[in-house]
Amino acid sequence: MIQVKDLKKNFGGNQVLDGITTDICQGEVVAIIGPSGSGKSTFLRSLNLLEVPTGGQILFEGTDITDPKVDINRHRQKIGMVFQQFNLFPHKTVKENIMLAPVELKLMTKEEASKRADELLERVGLPDKADAYPDRLSGGQKQRIAIARALAMNPDVMLFDEPTSALDPEMVGEVLELMKELAQSGMTMAVVTHEMGFAREVATRVLFIDDGKIQEENTPEQFFANPKNPRLKEFLSKVL
Ligand code: ADP
Ligand code: MG
Repeated sequence: MIQVKDLKKNFGGNQVLDGITTDICQGEVVAIIGPSGSGKSTFLRSLNLLEVPTGGQILFEGTDITDPKVDINRHRQKIGMVFQQFNLFPHKTVKENIMLAPVELKLMTKEEASKRADELLERVGLPDKADAYPDRLSGGQKQRIAIARALAMNPDVMLFDEPTSALDPEMVGEVLELMKELAQSGMTMAVVTHEMGFAREVATRVLFIDDGKIQEENTPEQFFANPKNPRLKEFLSKVL
């Protein structure tokens, strides 16, 4: 679904991504871990061109989206993104937040989007919050709505950038549980996370990024039981 070839990104003289090559296949759940500042967010944001690569290629469903002639907005519609800080629109209700993109982009009528929003509110367990404003929700509820909003576009892949890092500890579980259900439904996912339990239990593959490179990638079993890279060993000794 996504092929990343020798992806590079620098901010001024700061080489943040230094040649990343990996594929994300349909149905995979790829957990991305690594120290703060190692380029995880930059990598994830590059996958839908929120960051414009300075080198290499990204093929999404076979199309090179780094080609300036490509209409990136058409491809972005197929790539859902969930951020640490939820980014809900504060002056719109929960349901309006979920309906907004499909209606604005004329992919659905208001009626269709409304029906889809109701389904999604049911799916994320918050049907009674349809008419609430985001500031009435807990952090965990906000993130579940942000996930519903991303799903409203019927994406082919979902990207998560530390979706539970801004949450109080008691709310982490409900968001991880929803993500696990999504994974089990067959959604293709790339998840930057510090939740090693999630990486171990739900991911099909784990990547360790450090110094702008993939230092190690493996099945969760091998990755955690038998890490090879010394930096990964050190990292795991701190976080496990
Ligand atoms: P991580 O998500 O692994 O913590 P990031 O991808 O956010 O790391 O950042 C990697 C490096 O890139 C950091 O040194 C950060 O300061 C730098 N960086 C990220 N975004 C920008 C930007 N928009 N402008 C300049 N530097 C940036
Ligand atoms: Mg980050």
